[in-house]
Amino acid sequence: MSLSAQALALLDSFQHTILNCLNSTTASLSQTRQAHAHILKTGLFNDTHLATKLLSHYANNMCFADATLVLDLVPEPNVFSFSTLIYAFSKFHQFHHALSTFSQMLTRGLMPDNRVLPSAVKACAGLSALKPGRQVHGIASVSGFDSDSFVQSSLVHMYVKCNQIRDAHRVFDRMFEPDVVSWSALVAAYARQGCVDEAKRLFSEMGDSGVQPNLISWNGMIAGFNHSGLYSEAVLMFLDMHLRGFEPDGTTISSVLPAVGDLEDLVMGMLIHGYVIKQGLVSDKCVSSALIDMYGKCSCTSEMSQVFDQMDHMDVGSCNAFIFGLSRNGQVESSLRLFRQLKDQGMELNVVSWTSMIACCSQNGRDMEALELFREMQIAGVKPNSVTIPCLLPACGNIAALMHGKAAHCFSLRRGISTDVYVGSALIDMYAKCGRIQASRICFDGIPTKNLVCWNAVIAGYAMHGKAKEAMEIFDLMQRSGQKPDIISFTCVLSACSQSGLTEEGSYYFNSMSSKYGIEARVEHYACMVTLLSRAGKLEQAYAMIRRMPVNPDACVWGALLSSCRVHNNVSLGEVAAEKLFELEPSNPGNYILLSNIYASKGMWNEVNRVRDMMKNKGLRKNPGCSWIEVKNKVHMLLAGDKSHPQMTQIIEKLDKLSREMKKLGYFPEINFVLQDVEEQDKEQILCGHSEKLAVVFGLLNTPPGYPLQVIKNLRICGDCHVVIKFISSFERREIFVRDTNRFHHFKEGACSCGDYW
Ligand code: ZN
Ligand code: ZN
Repeated sequence: MSLSAQALALLDSFQHTILNCLNSTTASLSQTRQAHAHILKTGLFNDTHLATKLLSHYANNMCFADATLVLDLVPEPNVFSFSTLIYAFSKFHQFHHALSTFSQMLTRGLMPDNRVLPSAVKACAGLSALKPGRQVHGIASVSGFDSDSFVQSSLVHMYVKCNQIRDAHRVFDRMFEPDVVSWSALVAAYARQGCVDEAKRLFSEMGDSGVQPNLISWNGMIAGFNHSGLYSEAVLMFLDMHLRGFEPDGTTISSVLPAVGDLEDLVMGMLIHGYVIKQGLVSDKCVSSALIDMYGKCSCTSEMSQVFDQMDHMDVGSCNAFIFGLSRNGQVESSLRLFRQLKDQGMELNVVSWTSMIACCSQNGRDMEALELFREMQIAGVKPNSVTIPCLLPACGNIAALMHGKAAHCFSLRRGISTDVYVGSALIDMYAKCGRIQASRICFDGIPTKNLVCWNAVIAGYAMHGKAKEAMEIFDLMQRSGQKPDIISFTCVLSACSQSGLTEEGSYYFNSMSSKYGIEARVEHYACMVTLLSRAGKLEQAYAMIRRMPVNPDACVWGALLSSCRVHNNVSLGEVAAEKLFELEPSNPGNYILLSNIYASKGMWNEVNRVRDMMKNKGLRKNPGCSWIEVKNKVHMLLAGDKSHPQMTQIIEKLDKLSREMKKLGYFPEINFVLQDVEEQDKEQILCGHSEKLAVVFGLLNTPPGYPLQVIKNLRICGDCHVVIKFISSFERREIFVRDTNRFHHFKEGACSCGDYW
């Protein structure tokens, strides 16, 4: 044999090995790479069949970059080469790549066949991409493959996934013999849309046509009804399934339990729990999470803990359900403790865990903790999402943590979620509560499709800032844009009018509610009207309105009257309102304080003492005044009369200096804001200690000159602090924002935005 013949024979046998290797279904990645190297060396790439084999091995090993490279190098790729890759991309959920490869194939003028079309449709379904989905459907029709059962069933699935139930049904009707998968997909889609009759009709039609519903069909119905909020239907379906001899599996149980929880049907929940134990489904993590969730919704925290404790292996889903259940039942402390414990144990907490913990804190007044958790979450490398941000922002707003709020805003800008309606609305609210109403407006204007939540958020923001004109403008704009106002919109616009004493405008809106919009005024709207009238000094008119109310006036309504009686020092009506309030909320110290302040303003010290004794007998104490201020990215809390604060001596010194300056300029403290009947000098001392003043001075000491300050107070600002802060704003040349429980005060150059009307 000549040398070249020998070489040829060797080559031949080697090629044989390579081919064998590529033909086997179990070629390892290294074998594939070897074959690839050989093919490159010998120029066998011209063999499309061989190259496609190679590509398919790469794709099945999820080496998509190599697979794509091979496809690019094949001189004449055919439909089969492309469909191999597209199939693999779809199988491994690389839907974008699947579609771009599909369009590459079309560009080459290759006509797709019935093998590649279902993969392409599946990719569209995976992305819920309706437009490309319709295009692929069009291609299938043109090429005549739209009568292929695989193509049809993938199209049904795609339209269902894209919520196009009519299109799904149209394709379905054209199917020669729809299989149980297509039936189930369509039935579940109707259930998901809440179309009970249609879903049930199809379900029985399915049986009539000789296709027996299987477990997947039942599960789809139950999950669908649960999704559309038809909880009773979901439970009924579950019972029906059981009655007809189908054994529920883990998926069934975890689909029906949320519905049982939402119905708070504890008996049913316990029956299902029993079934779970009997069938040995306890080890199914989804089932355990669903049980925890159900018990949480039924307020059975001890049963919830029991399920959790009995789990062999905790997973993050059940931990989240447990954390959520605890916080739903107001057990913030235990929830936080558990969260920390899990974190220390090295449990891989995900974005849902962190988000529910943050939400739990911010909904239960633990705002500082919510901010701290958000920081920790980022350190832990967990990326916040479009749910986390709206959960965090209320905490920033509550304590005016503007820097933290801004950081969250920047984060949502980077992630491209800042114009999401929920993120956007939360940003509007946060900026308004941090005193930056212009920033609120900018966020509002940036939301392309506004919903009611956005409109209400910006109106509420203007109301909080006493900007009635702007609030009314937005209210108008909202209707011109086709959005109907709801009860909240009216509460916001009425409260804006009451902040500015616009009695006429307020009455107009109040009357138009039922006459123009068919909305019956609720007790909160009456409360706004009582504030509106009584603040403007029309106390008798306000009282008349209360007596005319078709609903029972609540504490908010009487509280509005009492506060105005305090402003106008009206003893007789103040006593009426206080009497009602003592019945409605006997342990709210604020009402006693207001009444005794009214007495004090008239020098009725005996009555002051009587009210003070009433408080003492009930064991009530004045709510400690508390203010927050953010300095250098940290939120500081200051308490009235708190001696333990490290900078307290400095604060008092500075306050003394300021008060000497004020006296020089003819300022005298308004002492009737002090409850106690004490010596004049002591009264002044007590006034010195109000938390908002302490916070402002703390801000002066710890920020550079000219830096604006913002303070939040848990009670209404008193007249004395208002005067003092006005003075500080001009003397120290600072802009100072103070938010009390009622509204915003923006102090600048010795004046306040409220015009001393609050
Ligand atoms: Zn004060
Ligand atoms: Zn003010």
